[in-house]
Amino acid sequence: MSESELVSVSRHPLVRHKLTRLRDEATEPWQFRLLVRDLSQLLFFEATHDLRLEPWSMRTPLGEHAGERLAEHIGLVPILRAGLGMADAILDLVPSACVWHLGLYRDHETLRPVTYYNKLPASLAIDVALVVDPMLATGGSAATAVSILKEAGLRRIKLLGLIAAPEGVQALSQTHPDVPVHLGAIDSHLDERSYIVPGLGDAGDRQFGTQ
Ligand code: URA
Repeated sequence: MSESELVSVSRHPLVRHKLTRLRDEATEPWQFRLLVRDLSQLLFFEATHDLRLEPWSMRTPLGEHAGERLAEHIGLVPILRAGLGMADAILDLVPSACVWHLGLYRDHETLRPVTYYNKLPASLAIDVALVVDPMLATGGSAATAVSILKEAGLRRIKLLGLIAAPEGVQALSQTHPDVPVHLGAIDSHLDERSYIVPGLGDAGDRQFGTQ
């Protein structure tokens, strides 16, 4: 798939409104967490338009209904720690999803992502895995996370992010051209510390009031 087919950026007015409030430096951590929550659910809704259904018949109080139910098991893979708020929000929509926590940091010398935490769910019966990380900056952590999931045998993987840099989108699409990317926005560029500009600052610090 080409980069333009792989990458979707939401145009939904609610996403655009809430992203602007999220970026605002005056937004406090508690408000920031609520916005991350809303945005994660809205983007998850868009990113899962292709989930498979199966027939599921039942009785309503008035009669038979030939209905449907989800036929796929969903796995959520939050990248610690900023992805936690996204995974929690999505779990409210799909409470039976498996969660696989991955902790990655960037080594200051090699500039390469290093895995410091990798907790597999008890069952890997996952049909579609969503890596959730609010910021797709260099793309290094996202690409490493996807490689770990592929090594574990997962084949259908998507990435969900709130804000990306063009550099990160390009890097991820080149390394994993089979992974669709669903975003709230693509910003201008990365600064010399690999922060997204204009972005929102550090998504972990802003959620948890640390710095
Ligand atoms: N991680 C963040 O939290 N913010 C950025 O701008 C880039 C990476």
